[in-house]
Amino acid sequence: MAVPDRIFIGNEKIPIHLVRKPYCDKCMNEVSAGESLCHFCKELPPNGDDWYFNKVVCMGTYEHDDSGGKSVPLNLLSRLVWMFKYGDKKQQGNAKRVLGDGLRQVSGLFPFLIDGVQYLVASPKFDKSERAFGEVLIDLLIKNCPSLAGKDITSIVQRLRDEGDIKLEKRETRFEKMAGIHHVDIPDLHGQKVLILDDVFTSGATSWDLSRALKDRNAGEINVLALARASNFTNIVYDFKELLMFFTGFDSINESKNINDVPIVNLSITNTSIKCIAKGTQNYEIMIDTDDKIVLHDCENFQHKRVNNKEFCKHITKLFLELSQKRGVDFATQLLETIYRDLPTWRFQSI
Ligand SMILES: [Zn+2]
Ligand SMILES: [Zn+2]
Repeated sequence: MAVPDRIFIGNEKIPIHLVRKPYCDKCMNEVSAGESLCHFCKELPPNGDDWYFNKVVCMGTYEHDDSGGKSVPLNLLSRLVWMFKYGDKKQQGNAKRVLGDGLRQVSGLFPFLIDGVQYLVASPKFDKSERAFGEVLIDLLIKNCPSLAGKDITSIVQRLRDEGDIKLEKRETRFEKMAGIHHVDIPDLHGQKVLILDDVFTSGATSWDLSRALKDRNAGEINVLALARASNFTNIVYDFKELLMFFTGFDSINESKNINDVPIVNLSITNTSIKCIAKGTQNYEIMIDTDDKIVLHDCENFQHKRVNNKEFCKHITKLFLELSQKRGVDFATQLLETIYRDLPTWRFQSI
């Protein structure tokens, strides 16, 4: 039996899928071919007379499916963002490491973000004892771009009201609620360049008012670096390795040895189903049926930790490595893509 290549070597980098072109020059929103600005950026903000910030750069898109009552991230970057914000300690650690490196890569691809920047800033929480995700991102960026150390001025920014989470509000309401919410506690920024860090860029209302407050204090050019652009972009193509990382919630990075050591036996493949036994402390069954759209498996880790998030344990991950060896990478990739593209309707169940 061929031994699969060890495809996860423990220093994985996020594959940067910049938002697909054509996108808006200003905010990376989707635009039609030939257009340089999206319909939002062609106009002023709903209740403002300026956008105040110059440009937004994101690593890719944030897409999730909410139809099942819980949010399922639909691409690798979205899953990383989810892990960064809501994951357990280990997931957050993994996500921070990979996203931090991603911030470094993106600032290399868009040098104007970093060149000449004197101030880094994030929109703080109303209760300053709680850290905003943007503040954590500033730390990650500095760790990966040490020349930016000492430039974080978030501590002198106040949020004057507690508007809570505005994510579910409609666009006009977001801008209404954010208008005038920020206050920068310093008299003069002397026309210096500023970079705002944010997790997911959605309507832009938060960055817009933060920029307004900075400009009130004589800030120079302001740009926004966000992990992801909220959107409904489609047709993003992922390769085998990325899809597998997606389905393992990035555990595959730390557990490549455990995964590679799982023996797969009795593999049977038909047009619509794949079955096998994964040997461990006992024999575990795996069954994937593309007609019924179901992944069945019986190990403890799968039942307790993976089923709800529609993730793979090490046994299922190894099955896909084995499929890529025995039937080719295209076959394995296609199967992963079939599940991934229709994830909301797939069921992951214990046998
Ligand atoms: Zn735009
Ligand atoms: Zn398992």
